[in-house]
Amino acid sequence: MKSAVVIGAGITGLAAATTLKKAGYDVRLLEKSTRTGGCIQTVRRDGYLVETGPNTMMLSSLQTAMFLGELGLGDELLLSSDVAKNRYIYKGGETVAVPTGPGKFFKSPLLSAKGKLRLMKEPFVKKPANLAEESLASFVQRRLGQDALDFMAEPAVSGIYAGDPKRLSAQHAFPKIHELENRYGSLVKGAFKGGMRKAPGSFRAVMATFKDGMQALPAKLAERLGDALTLGATVTAISRTDRWLVSWEADGGQHSAEADTLILAVPAYAVRDLPLPENAKQTLFDLHEIPYPPVTSFSVGYRREQVGHALDGFGVLVPAVEQRKVLGVLFPSSVYSDRAPEGHVLLTAFIGGMRQPTLATLSEEEHLALLKTELAAILGVTGEPTFTERTLWRKAIPQYNVGHGNFLAMIDKAERENPGLHLCGNYRGGIAVGQCLTNGIELGHKIAAQ
Ligand SMILES: Cc1cc2nc3c(=O)[nH]c(=O)nc-3n(C[C@H](O)[C@H](O)[C@H](O)COP(=O)(O)OP(=O)(O)OC[C@H]3O[C@@H](n4cnc5c(N)ncnc54)[C@H](O)[C@@H]3O)c2cc1C
Repeated sequence: MKSAVVIGAGITGLAAATTLKKAGYDVRLLEKSTRTGGCIQTVRRDGYLVETGPNTMMLSSLQTAMFLGELGLGDELLLSSDVAKNRYIYKGGETVAVPTGPGKFFKSPLLSAKGKLRLMKEPFVKKPANLAEESLASFVQRRLGQDALDFMAEPAVSGIYAGDPKRLSAQHAFPKIHELENRYGSLVKGAFKGGMRKAPGSFRAVMATFKDGMQALPAKLAERLGDALTLGATVTAISRTDRWLVSWEADGGQHSAEADTLILAVPAYAVRDLPLPENAKQTLFDLHEIPYPPVTSFSVGYRREQVGHALDGFGVLVPAVEQRKVLGVLFPSSVYSDRAPEGHVLLTAFIGGMRQPTLATLSEEEHLALLKTELAAILGVTGEPTFTERTLWRKAIPQYNVGHGNFLAMIDKAERENPGLHLCGNYRGGIAVGQCLTNGIELGHKIAAQ
């Protein structure tokens, strides 16, 4: 029987371990903490259901949808409401709806008249020869202009990566958009020629969570793994002769397992702390340099009448040029049912990120004062919240900055030099939950097929 040890029970490690177990592997999944799911964490309290990490996931492949179906999670899936299609950007004291079509775009105050004209020139912008790897800010400025950077790309980047467009790599952080320029010479031409469209009949992506929140996914995967999962495990030794030998401490005892496959599914900064064989440790040492900025997610409940805004959307993103103190605010109780008690609404704000890292680590009192000011200005919120839930993610989301390819090359090298070693996680192949899930499943299938 083939065997695998997987280290790290975030969504990527859980997906890889479950796929291998289903393929007949003898699997051991080792998790340092006392819970599974990593960044995924749902809190149900006082009639509210709060996600302290990801609020939602994009289900974008049939394979992943079938995987959830096989897990028995099909009936638990909760699709986003229609209003989730509406997105807002805060501009000059107003929440401006992101235009959803060309007609609305021309009427929208999101970009200035000059900004709209500049954006329309995009199909005629030539790509300079011998262009070095470019930051997202440089790419967007060059193709679409400053206004599009300030009021479209920058807030979007804060919403997805809590990142800085001047540092994020266009090629690595937004590969599909970057590829449009290479293939079609223009983003607009590429979009018209179907560069972003999927083949007819292919799976239509949906935004979803679960009735009991995102935590339902790791919980179900953990249930499937049963006693193949060890929580509270400290890996004490990893060596390799013709097979991998992994030792760990858990439940007050020493344990070990031999395996053909070793999967590291821990965050990039945690790899160097693992007791890896010397050559792998050296090759992978610099992975801890991938930046993970701190982010506080602060969820607050209000009575509906305390909020001046219609909350008819997914949420509002705040551009850096507006100089406010939140990156954005989600409207979870508008997007999904059963997130707040009757007559109440739930708002989730994100504070910190690459833009204002020091704001993420303020005290609860300071955060509450900050948030009340921000919510009053952005959404017309008055009075005290009826509910609060705050989580500081000290190392929240990996940044695919310019030069990220060097880290990916280190990983490829370590895998080539150490047969049976695989690294996976949100620093490789996408940060979104849906991408991590798909990447974990695909890695499991790839290994099983070898
Ligand atoms: C605040 C926040 C909001 C987000 N919002 C969204 C969203 O709305 N939609 C979306 O798609 N994505 C979102 N994301 C991103 C997404 O949640 C993550 O990218 C994804 O969940 C990461 O999964 P992972 O398995 O790669 O890593 P992780 O979740 O980081 O899991 C890694 C696991 O490894 C374990 N580990 C670490 N060291 C060791 C060790 N030495 N031994 C054993 N185990 C170890 C950790 O305890 C952890 O359980 C958000 C992330 C954050 C932080």
